[in-house]
Amino acid sequence: MNLDPQTLFFSLMINVTLMSVALTLGVRWDSRSGIRAWNVALVLQALAWAALIASYRAWPRSLATVGVACMVTGFGFVHVAAKAYLHEPVSRAWAWGLPAVVTLLHWLLFGDYVARIAITNAGLSLQMLWLAVVLLRPRPTSTSWRWRWLAGVALASSGLMVLGRFVLVVGWPEAYPRFDAAHWINTLGLIINNANLTVGTLAFLLAHRDEAERELQRLATTDGLTGVLNRRQWLAAGLDHLRLAERHGQPLTVMMLDLDHFKRINDNQGHAAGDRALVQFSRALQHVLRGPDLVGRYGGEEFCVLLPQSGLDAAEAVDRRLRELVAREVVPTLGFPLTFSAGVALRDAGDASLERLMASADEALYRAKAAGRNRLERAVSRDAGRTPPTPG
Ligand code: GH3
Ligand code: MG
Ligand code: MG
Repeated sequence: MNLDPQTLFFSLMINVTLMSVALTLGVRWDSRSGIRAWNVALVLQALAWAALIASYRAWPRSLATVGVACMVTGFGFVHVAAKAYLHEPVSRAWAWGLPAVVTLLHWLLFGDYVARIAITNAGLSLQMLWLAVVLLRPRPTSTSWRWRWLAGVALASSGLMVLGRFVLVVGWPEAYPRFDAAHWINTLGLIINNANLTVGTLAFLLAHRDEAERELQRLATTDGLTGVLNRRQWLAAGLDHLRLAERHGQPLTVMMLDLDHFKRINDNQGHAAGDRALVQFSRALQHVLRGPDLVGRYGGEEFCVLLPQSGLDAAEAVDRRLRELVAREVVPTLGFPLTFSAGVALRDAGDASLERLMASADEALYRAKAAGRNRLERAVSRDAGRTPPTPG
């Protein structure tokens, strides 16, 4: 087998150019998406190699510096791509500062072959290895390890090969007289770089897909305006809680909350103000609840809350805290009065279905409305309903 670096370079050029064209055409345009930044990184890498090759024929200093600038800036964009999917802020020093310094030094030190090649490879390997560390570091949260691992290993292996080139040029400059020199470190580096183009693209496409999946999941399960669970998801999660409560014989309460005279708010303040009221109210509601409590938008201006392992006292405490918070913070923010009525029902041994529990809470809510609004009513226990009427 004859792996000559010039052929490998040619195949690298073809690979990176086709990949960047395919991504440019194939991925929906969204300037914030990480895959777009990876796409830009590939385009810059293709331009970098073209400029470096051209620099052997004309304007060596300018074209070589343009090539180096494209290469290191390309890895700045890899940094941007990774940070987009990690949901972390871009470090300007790593993404743009280091490429700027490397480019400047390359231009200034062009006359000294060893210095300029050493600086370029040191800068590149630093960019790659640091990013590999960022990606491979264990993370507690939701970002999937698959794409991080793929991209991290690709960057680590490429970074080590570039570091090898740095050592080669500093220790044995005569063995590396130009970028396509036939030294085994260079040859192996090119093979690995070629493979990592594909692996890196795969990693960022995976990250892109994970992100899209999460977004779809969010859209399917939450309410678009308030961000709380939508009715279907609340019912599904509520059913799980109810089964658990039944199995362990634990209490569980359901509250239905409805904003008072909301139609009037819409009519008097405008629909946008009504929307703001819904958002502020749902925020206050989430604020007064604890971790395992479930809050959903049941429809319109009606919210449903499920309090696992909690009795009526807990529901009353939630109601009290919420009334205080709405009066203290929500109303001054909105600039118009806002109150709500609530009904609460406690699971008892006979209440097998969530629908029954909700119907009881809804009936209590209806009574709260009928009694003048801005209050909480408890559902009438079904046992109480069965007690014979007192004579008289
Ligand atoms: P009550 O005190 O008896 O509950 O009176 P109400 O006016 O709140 O009740 P009603 O059910 O008659 O009106 C609810 C209103 O909520 C009507 C509807 O236009 C409004 N609404 C429903 N969804 C939204 C929404 O997403 N945004 C806004 N701004 N209004 C909404
Ligand atoms: Mg209402
Ligand atoms: Mg209503």
